[in-house]
Amino acid sequence: MTVGALPQTVEVRTLAARAVSLAGVVDPAKLTRLSAAIVAAKDPVVVNADFDRDEEGRYVVAMQVSADVLVTCQRCLSTLEQTVASTTLLAVVWTDEQAGQLPPRYEPLVAEAEIELWEVVEDELLLALPSFSYHSDLNCGAETGVQAPGGDGEALAQENPDKDNPFSVLQALKGDSDS
Ligand SMILES: [Zn+2]
Repeated sequence: MTVGALPQTVEVRTLAARAVSLAGVVDPAKLTRLSAAIVAAKDPVVVNADFDRDEEGRYVVAMQVSADVLVTCQRCLSTLEQTVASTTLLAVVWTDEQAGQLPPRYEPLVAEAEIELWEVVEDELLLALPSFSYHSDLNCGAETGVQAPGGDGEALAQENPDKDNPFSVLQALKGDSDS
């Protein structure tokens, strides 16, 4: 499958009337709100958007977005990799009042003619991004004995000097090595 850059703006009702499917990528560096919420993004954001009309004549967009991002572990404060993905069914409406009348399966997308597709993608990613991220216990460099919510202390207590252990990176940064 050839995947090019996703258009930044689209005529959403036109695409829906023609039942157009768009697949493409967005450079995460262009998504400034997302960039502010993460440490870094590894790869382009992957987007699939299927525009269509539903049985009641609504203009709808079935949107899938996914991105591999680096975020800060809230326990050991080093980075961890996280896949942020969401699947959303959007219905295009003209007004907030119409938005309130949509069936619950839809999320409203208030739009005149054009929509800023990148902004919609960014909104979906930000909604899907967890507020707090933690390593799984084995990978976390925390030595504080603080347990992740719902985690058990066993894995934490067992020191695992893996070369990928983020704590060794932290130690190197602090100049704390023995050699
Ligand atoms: Zn951690």
